[in-house]
Amino acid sequence: MIINIAHLYGNLLNTYGDVGNVMAFSHEARKNNYEVNTDIISIGDEFDPKKYDFVFFGGGQDYEQSIVQKDLIKKRDSLVEYIENYGILLAICGGYQLLGQYYYDAHNEKIEGLKIFDHYTINQENKNRFTGNIKIKSSLDPNEIYTGFENHGGQTFLSENQKPFGEVIEGNGNNGNDLSEGFIYKNTIGTYLHGPLLAKNKNLCESLFDIVNKRRSK
Ligand code: GLN
Repeated sequence: MIINIAHLYGNLLNTYGDVGNVMAFSHEARKNNYEVNTDIISIGDEFDPKKYDFVFFGGGQDYEQSIVQKDLIKKRDSLVEYIENYGILLAICGGYQLLGQYYYDAHNEKIEGLKIFDHYTINQENKNRFTGNIKIKSSLDPNEIYTGFENHGGQTFLSENQKPFGEVIEGNGNNGNDLSEGFIYKNTIGTYLHGPLLAKNKNLCESLFDIVNKRRSK
């Protein structure tokens, strides 16, 4: 049996070793006796919402985000279908920002988001960035603490309808103010935690993989 992974714009958005999430998830799949196929889905490629077990959308610099944005819009409908059907989507930093309404980059240029979710992202004064280690209490399981590394100029604000991925214990998270970190909807997670997240937090990787097993056995 094969696990199909899509790495969205893996050739353009892959800061701080975010590809490690794909590697960690693949490792978990092999441990569970699956073979793994990974496709980089980039500019001009079609995204087939029925094919994938895990979709990863990593972080990037403002410039790459502005390029990706123009193509991403063409994949909007198929991504919505995937998300609404409980597909697992992990979006980190730049990827997370692009799933929302918009992102004002460090030069105050507006990069439109996919607007699948309500959150929006603005820049910080004096090109400040939130950089450093981050620790959050998971909203999936209050006994779980996830650790990572954040490096973002963006400050993200969720709407009242959005549920954070976690609560900040150390570091800044979404905006440095309201202690929220990332968001979660069905099996989609948006977060600022580089790390790579799934390599640093084995339990999270395993629980995401359990979802694959459950979806497969339906
Ligand atoms: N360019 C975005 C920001 O600075 C995203 C950064 C990232 O993905 N690491 O906020």
